[in-house]
Order: sequence, then structure tokens, then C-alpha cells
Amino acid sequence: MIRSLKLKGFKSFADETEIRFSEGINCIVGPNGCGKSNIVDALKWVVGGTSPKGMRADSIKDVIFKGAQGRRPARSAEVAVTVAAEDLFSAASLETEVKRRVTADGDSQFFINGKKVRLKDIQELFTNLGLSNRDYAFFEQGQVDRVLRMRPAERRALIDEAAGITPFKEKREETLKQ
Ligand code: ATP
Ligand code: MG
Repeated sequence: MIRSLKLKGFKSFADETEIRFSEGINCIVGPNGCGKSNIVDALKWVVGGTSPKGMRADSIKDVIFKGAQGRRPARSAEVAVTVAAEDLFSAASLETEVKRRVTADGDSQFFINGKKVRLKDIQELFTNLGLSNRDYAFFEQGQVDRVLRMRPAERRALIDEAAGITPFKEKREETLKQ
């Protein structure tokens, strides 16, 4: 489960802001334009989203707080998510923090528990946790419709992902290529 999300210099969140999630369903409420969708964008971004459009931005640099009255633009945007997963062997809950940072030159950096990693590493981690920024973890307005209109192969890919077998398929393909 997602325990918390920390944003700093990300879109409208100029100051460091921490959002804590509790177990079960969480709702984010607030007036228009207060930043609800920006929180979802941050989550999509930190799990390894690569399409600026998916984050409602023209370029990846647009996620950096661009300044406001009396506030200078931020030099970088940072989002950190803490997830807890049950350890299969000890039943202990293991917390992992994943952080992504982008600087004004458009350079992205990724960290798992403070250690620098590749984009691929965090994408793999979240795919294993069922939170990848692909088809099914994020369902937005109008997407139910999209599922209904999908071609069979696309629908199959969605089911594969929901069932958790996508990572194995990818590993198999990678092995076959070698
Ligand atoms: P609604 O209820 O209308 O869906 P919302 O709560 O989802 O609103 P968001 O879309 O999350 O609102 O936030 C929009 C606000 O974020 C706008 O005021 C926009 O100017 C601001 N914003 C987006 N990107 C940036 C940025 N890079 N720097 C500063 N502010 C930004
Ligand atoms: Mg919104």
C-alpha cells in the first residue's frame, strides 16, 4: 500500500508537502484548481511515467513549480513515495521509498531508499507491486469507456497486467532476445 507521498517544487506544490494515506480507500477533496489532479500526476511520475502528456505537461520540465506572485520558480521538482509491502517470509511490512527528481535542464534522477538507480529499476519495482504507470493502475475520467472499446489484444495486455504476469512475459522476451 502507499503510505505517503512527498512533493517539493512539483507543479503547484512549491513547498515540501507530505500526504499520508491510510489503509483502504482514500479520497482527495478540495476546490477546483487546488491541486488534486497534480497529486495524481505526481504519483504517476514517481512510479516511472515517461509521457509528459500523461502528467498533463508539455515537457517533463513543466512539472517544476513555475513560480507565482512573490514566489520564484523552483529549480527542481521532487516526488517521493513510500510504499509498504508485506514480506512473504516474515509477514513484516517492508517500507521502500522511491524518489524522482528533475532539474531545470530536464535531467531525471531516481532513487530507491536513497540509492541512485535507473528508471528501469523503479519501473520494475512498481510493476511488481501492481502500481505501474501503464494501463490499469491509474483510471481516469473516460477510461472505463476506453476499456470497453479496446481491441482483444489490448484487453489481454490489461488482464495480464492485472494478474501480475506482465513482468514475467517481459523477462521472457528479454531472454529470447539475448
Ligand atoms: P479540478 O477540481 O478543477 O480538477 P484540481 O484540484 O485537480 O482541480 P489541478 O489540476 O491539480 O487542480 O491543479 C491545477 C493548478 O496547478 C493550476 O492552478 C495550475 O496553474 C497549477 N500548476 C500546474 N502546473 C504548475 C507548475 N508547473 N507550476 C505552478 N503551478 C502549476
Ligand atoms: Mg482535477
